Amino acid sequence: MTRIEKQKERISNGVEKIVSLAKRRGFVFPSSEIYGGFGSCYDFGPLGVEMKNNIKKAWWDEMTKKHDDIVGLDASILMSPKVWKASGHLTAGFADELVECRKCHHRFRKDFIKEKCPDCGGNLTKPKKFNLMMKTFIGPVEDEASVTYLRAETCQGIYTNFKNVIQTMRMKIPFGIAQIGKAFRNEINPKDFIYRTREFEQMEMQWFCEPKKADKFFDYWLKQRLNWYLSLGIRKQNLRAKEVPKNELPHYAKRANDIEYKFPFGWQEIEGIHNRGDWDLSNHSKYSGQDLKYEGSFPHIIETSVGVDRSLFAFLCDSYTEVKGGRTKTTKSAKEIEILLKLDKSLAPIKIAVLPLVKNKLELVKKAKQVYKLLKPNFVCQYDETGSIGRRYRRQDEIGTLFCVTIDFDSLKKDDVTIRDRDTMKQKRVKIKDLPRLEIFDF
Ligand code: ATP
Repeated sequence: MTRIEKQKERISNGVEKIVSLAKRRGFVFPSSEIYGGFGSCYDFGPLGVEMKNNIKKAWWDEMTKKHDDIVGLDASILMSPKVWKASGHLTAGFADELVECRKCHHRFRKDFIKEKCPDCGGNLTKPKKFNLMMKTFIGPVEDEASVTYLRAETCQGIYTNFKNVIQTMRMKIPFGIAQIGKAFRNEINPKDFIYRTREFEQMEMQWFCEPKKADKFFDYWLKQRLNWYLSLGIRKQNLRAKEVPKNELPHYAKRANDIEYKFPFGWQEIEGIHNRGDWDLSNHSKYSGQDLKYEGSFPHIIETSVGVDRSLFAFLCDSYTEVKGGRTKTTKSAKEIEILLKLDKSLAPIKIAVLPLVKNKLELVKKAKQVYKLLKPNFVCQYDETGSIGRRYRRQDEIGTLFCVTIDFDSLKKDDVTIRDRDTMKQKRVKIKDLPRLEIFDF
């Protein structure tokens, strides 16, 4: 079985339609596909990267513009290995329990399975600890002295820069530091498409506060984060917060809540809210010998940590809509099932499609290209002249394009276009000269 076949097999749990749409329409491709794929790694295609950038912008704006006292950071992926010693990631703290099937030798995370091998029913070995840090070597000599790790979470760069940020920005607690960046974990069982991969991107915010206010801020940030998903269109019934039981807390946390989304394969975490207490600052003080106290004591830290890839997956699942019998009964292209991606306007990868009514009329094509040029500096646009107009509308609905701007024969006489709204399919005519005005697109 090739890697891609294995990848497909692991994905057959109700999300096939999303995976197929993502591949077919240029959101997500398997990595190294021409070489048969590379386990659990994915590439974001032209639409995927637009959507990913939109999610990151929505999060960054939410954190740094809508909230006071949060500043940004972009720390390096490679850090001194001492960081990971101090953070507890090199010890049993950051290890999953691994079991192996005695018969087919497939390996699993112990907490994901029951007594027998889910692939062949064979008996399992005793669990052993498996550290998730990805090792690498710095410099030309592969000896122990040059070993370091790809970061397993982005936040450690925030803690090591705690004093730098305070000093340069004159921050006073409570304040936060936000960061977006790649993280790597040698997951035992990467699965469910982009849900669990070995390379992923995190958006993390660390809130430094007085210890006695940590509980209050925990509740505050949990609520803020839940509201963020709702404000971006996630349906309430598909979102919940779950208290993590004490015996399942990560090694650094005093309290944790998982924000969960109801994926087609069940409720799963998309974001973690953690009260990390003084775990990080006190350990880094101890290991580095530097005083990381703030006015004589360690602030406590409330962390909000979300995966870009996981949240993108949740946004895709939540917006994916099938309309049986199609929405338009008049065109021939009305299929049995019409697909619509009802993405929030800030997340949709393409905002406007520009469509000449037919492609074999030169004047129409010329005018449509002028309109495309006019809109392109302000909106992410797509020009499409292939196929019937009905089919082109369907194609745009399927990728969540907010508006279709159509140039027809009347446009040549009146210098206007039709704007069609994705969700209501309502149409209105507006003058071409008015198109760069944003409010024109308010239906
Ligand atoms: P899990 O229990 O699913 O392994 P975790 O509790 O270890 O996740 P955290 O360390 O809290 O995850 O990471 C915060 C967020 O980072 C997660 O909510 C998720 O969105 C994202 N994330 C973590 N691991 C992965 C991964 N392997 N692939 C994609 N995203 C991930």
